[in-house]
Amino acid sequence: MFRIVRTARRLHFERLILLSESSSPFLEYFKGFENVEAVKKIFGQKTSEVLRSLKVDFIWAGYMGVNDYNGHIVVNSNYLNNGDRTDIYLDIIHELVHVKQYMEGRELFDSHYDYVERPTEIEAYRYAVEEARRLGWNDAKICGYLKTEWMSNADLKKLATNLDVCCDR
Ligand SMILES: [Zn+2]
Repeated sequence: MFRIVRTARRLHFERLILLSESSSPFLEYFKGFENVEAVKKIFGQKTSEVLRSLKVDFIWAGYMGVNDYNGHIVVNSNYLNNGDRTDIYLDIIHELVHVKQYMEGRELFDSHYDYVERPTEIEAYRYAVEEARRLGWNDAKICGYLKTEWMSNADLKKLATNLDVCCDR
């Protein structure tokens, strides 16, 4: 089950816009994130202000992403309840970078680029990788986080190289 979760999580799920019943305040479900240093690095002095107005939409499928129509974080509540805690934490860091990009008016899913080369993805992964390193993860563990079944070894290498992570084992 978890492998399936990991697979679909980044399998272009971020592109999927699934209908959600209602929006909830982000901070209601992700308490204290306005005090997380890694999050403050993303939004700076605007951290509290941004997170206070950020909405989260729960969906029935997929994993996590940012809706590029309204800037909301979308999360599968099942993944949130059952996924690996640290993976979810790093995913949130990643998605919050996309929220910042959305606020800057950037194109989140520029199809001119492959996923592993897309500047918005590289930037989002950079924040997550930096936080993983701070948590003591070595490159092998980070590679495990980056790797998904749909990603070829060549693509993983490209992504890892773009992130200065060594996945040669
Ligand atoms: Zn992303």
